[in-house]
Amino acid sequence: MYEGLKDKVAVVTGASAGIGEATVCALAKAGCHVAMGARRVERLADLHNRVTRDNPGVEIATAPLDVQKLDDVRAFGAMVKERFGTVHILVNNAGLVRGVDPLVETPEENVQVMIETNVVGLIRMTQEMMPALIDSGNGNIVNVASIAGWYAYPGGSVYCATKAAVRSLSQAMRVEIVDKPVRLTVISPGMVETEFSDVRFFGDKEKASEVYKGMKPLVGEDIADCIVWAVSRPKHVNIDEILVTPQEQGGILKVHRPGE
Ligand code: NAP
Repeated sequence: MYEGLKDKVAVVTGASAGIGEATVCALAKAGCHVAMGARRVERLADLHNRVTRDNPGVEIATAPLDVQKLDDVRAFGAMVKERFGTVHILVNNAGLVRGVDPLVETPEENVQVMIETNVVGLIRMTQEMMPALIDSGNGNIVNVASIAGWYAYPGGSVYCATKAAVRSLSQAMRVEIVDKPVRLTVISPGMVETEFSDVRFFGDKEKASEVYKGMKPLVGEDIADCIVWAVSRPKHVNIDEILVTPQEQGGILKVHRPGE
């Protein structure tokens, strides 16, 4: 059974690339109005134009958003309230990984940016949007975690810890809000070819492409599909978590690369 998404209002963080961008497109295609944010506003402007052109009748609102900044989060919340007056779906997608250093060699700056973005930013956005989600009478929160939050790997300690934190705080919150009309889903992807590895390797595209060499990774649209599916279940159905990997990824470290 499919719960229609037409005219629902969705908020997507980290919409300027990858999974966030694909999610904006998929939600708009399903009939949602979307408020989207990220730091690279020129990217958002381009996406805004494309989505508006392809989905007549759907309203898109765009604003600069750095989830590391409380003022940005509050301003974004105010913009959504003024523009739409309600929120049905919050997709906490903004996130990143920096480097492959062992824990003891991870620069302070990288530790801070991963924790501030992936954990503190997600908490801030959730706190900001929760009253509107409750008031909507049919709210959904989707937290994008990772397979790295299930299985930690060397060179990913801080990132893995942030994603384990997303899973953990989601589990607690799901119980805390069980008497509220808000569902909560965690999506934990495996390898998705986006700008994620470019960011990890500080723009080194050769290193980034090595990650997916000889295998078929997921793409942003695969995760957007999972998100749209989860939020379009009937109101009494809560999808707690989806762990989704490429067929050729057998775990966190085992990847079959037939093309190598
Ligand atoms: P991506 O292509 O690099 O996209 C990341 C998005 O997050 C960008 O739009 C970026 O926009 C935004 N972002 C980063 N820092 C931000 C901040 N401080 N405030 C607001 N937005 C911010 O990577 P992706 O793969 O789509 O990643 C999306 C989510 O999926 C992340 O949470 C990531 O951890 C998770 N994930 C990815 C994979 C994978 O293999 N790709 C696997 C598991 C989980 P700006 O730079 O313009 O701000």
